[in-house]
Amino acid sequence: MALGGGREIGANSFYYGIDGHGLLVDAGLHPEKLGWEAFPKITALNGHPVDTLLVTHAHTDHLGAVPFVMQHHPNAEVYATSETIELSRIMLSNSASLLPKQHPAEVIEALTNYTLIELPDVIAQFRPLDLGTSQQFGDGRFKATYYTSGHILGAAGILIETDGQRIFHTGDTSLHAQRIVGGAALPDGPIDVLVSESTNGIVDAYLTHTRERELERLITTINETLAAEGSVLIPVFALGKLQEMLMMISDAMKAGRIPSVPVYSGGMGRRISDVYDQFPMSRSRTNPKDRVADIEQSELPRRDGLFSGKFFREPSIVLAASGMMQDGTPSYFLAQRWLRLAHFTICFVGYTDPRTPGYIVSHAEQGTRIKFGSMRRDVPVRCKIERFRFSAHARREELLEIVRRLRPKKVVLTHGDERAIAAFGELIVETFPETQVSAPEVGKWYSLSS
Ligand SMILES: [Zn+2]
Repeated sequence: MALGGGREIGANSFYYGIDGHGLLVDAGLHPEKLGWEAFPKITALNGHPVDTLLVTHAHTDHLGAVPFVMQHHPNAEVYATSETIELSRIMLSNSASLLPKQHPAEVIEALTNYTLIELPDVIAQFRPLDLGTSQQFGDGRFKATYYTSGHILGAAGILIETDGQRIFHTGDTSLHAQRIVGGAALPDGPIDVLVSESTNGIVDAYLTHTRERELERLITTINETLAAEGSVLIPVFALGKLQEMLMMISDAMKAGRIPSVPVYSGGMGRRISDVYDQFPMSRSRTNPKDRVADIEQSELPRRDGLFSGKFFREPSIVLAASGMMQDGTPSYFLAQRWLRLAHFTICFVGYTDPRTPGYIVSHAEQGTRIKFGSMRRDVPVRCKIERFRFSAHARREELLEIVRRLRPKKVVLTHGDERAIAAFGELIVETFPETQVSAPEVGKWYSLSS
């Protein structure tokens, strides 16, 4: 049963009932929804036990509701990779500080486990299950193996083996390597059931570009902006995209392909970079010698200091959260001033949800006026706006390649909007007509046994 993340990208959480044992994979928070709607629907379990919770990776839409599940199922044993456990300390305190701003008081009052006093105890209960290792669960009812899934540091796909059945749950995955994090490892086929993410299930013009070509375009855009004495704003997610972009920019500077100008990063992203550096030998990584901390970075000022930042006076590159310019984040405030400056540029480097300010800004045309988030007045669009795709998710062809390699009898599509799931589902049926494809609805039971 999907408790969230069925036919949407949201509070990802999937329940597997295995011979009376309850396994939950992930417990995430929905980034946009309000109140209990933002949490996995555990009431739908209706008395079914939660014995084991396996976390695939530390993004909030997979991890943020783990303390909530532990509140309701205090005996559940929680497992994650060592990298994910370290990242959880930062990501869960961030969720804890944001929750009261996002949700009604009655929701916050009903939550335990999210205060800064309780969180360390909650995380102390997480047990490590590292990439490339297996463990038996439920008195030997099933075995789970964590496979490197690419995507971000410590991210895992999970092979579940029980009573002759093999189920592979991809988590968020990418077959292609990024700059710091390598591509996914897959189990040997054939398997019985593939539970696959489908983020990039639909064709997107930007996704047909190669990473190399996107990097060339980015370097050209940065050079043009700096030559015009302007600065470049790159909205990024603090976990994953920030570290990847920093390393790519640093490579380009070292190779003399862009001038050495100040690079700004800040807050939570910096602490996350330190965790990346703590795990040089992680199976997630491409090169143990890379250290994000070795890249010279200036500290992005806090809220009040943002508008007087030196980057408005000297050509600079500013990496600021959040990637979708959510209301109240540094990239959201910076954009309001950036937009007015004709020699400045905003470079979007990832997916933006149509409901977010990032989508409005990334699709704005020069010479018009726009309004986004909680702004009272509109602003003129004078700066240059460019979109690039450096996706941390498998492209559509890679998703199909996973099906090709694992040859599952059944494919269950999750973690994608309805269009992406429909488009990718059709592609699977066209290519492998004997494969059964389904997309679970939240709160409904599905049988995976053959
Ligand atoms: Zn993710």
